[in-house]
Amino acid sequence: MLLDFDHHSHTPYSRHSHAEMTVANSLAAAAAKGLKRHVVLEHVPEIGSSERGTPELWYTGKNERWQLDAIAKDLADLTPGLNYPELKVLRGVEVDADPFKLDGSCMLEDFTGIDVVLGSTHLFPGGSAFWFEKIVLPPDQARRVAKSWRDWAIRFVQAGQIDVLAHPGDLIGARQLVPPFNSPETLELFEPLLEAMAEKKVAFELNESLGAKLAPPFRAGYPALVRLAKQAGCRFSVGSDAHAPHNVGRYDWVHLLIKEAALEDGHMWKPDA
Ligand SMILES: [Zn+2]
Ligand SMILES: [Zn+2]
Repeated sequence: MLLDFDHHSHTPYSRHSHAEMTVANSLAAAAAKGLKRHVVLEHVPEIGSSERGTPELWYTGKNERWQLDAIAKDLADLTPGLNYPELKVLRGVEVDADPFKLDGSCMLEDFTGIDVVLGSTHLFPGGSAFWFEKIVLPPDQARRVAKSWRDWAIRFVQAGQIDVLAHPGDLIGARQLVPPFNSPETLELFEPLLEAMAEKKVAFELNESLGAKLAPPFRAGYPALVRLAKQAGCRFSVGSDAHAPHNVGRYDWVHLLIKEAALEDGHMWKPDA
């Protein structure tokens, strides 16, 4: 399948991107790759910065959108000099669900000027930790956390604000809260979420970077989750999650997922904008 678009790429305003990942370089990389559609976005709240290194400090970024406005300014400044007639550039946001409220509401209320809303859950439900913290839970507790994440993700989808659920299952899979994605127990856990996504027309993201975050059995089992999402009637968004120009529009794992789940052009989601 020809994937001449990227619905998920970051900027310097993440404060954890490669130094070369300016908005200008990102667009140049997209044009050089022959992309026709490129979504430039940033996290709300910013994530992974040392100044906001605890969930409580991170939470103070609720409703901050300086990073989105900085992207808008760069795009406005660049546009007169750009000559990429084939490339449509869209503005996006990767917004977290509020992990303390757990009601499915977003960490941002003002989506003015934003074309594409990706929804993420980068913190554990209840806000106890970030997804990348190497916590290990006893199996019973891990399953309870996984179920609480699933129910929260359903509310996030049902709240009607997001277009795409970003890297589904990353928190559960990276922290191995449940057996690998192809186990019946884990597929059963996901089923109601996938059904809610199909019903609310929230796309399932095939995220190139997720593959590298998962342990081999979880990576190997992920196609089963993609197949179940397809059966449930979900559409699929594709994004590199690039934080460096050479990763813009670069897909290896995503192509494998598409092949293993036998996805066709008609299964793919695209923004209205
Ligand atoms: Zn993310
Ligand atoms: Zn991202």
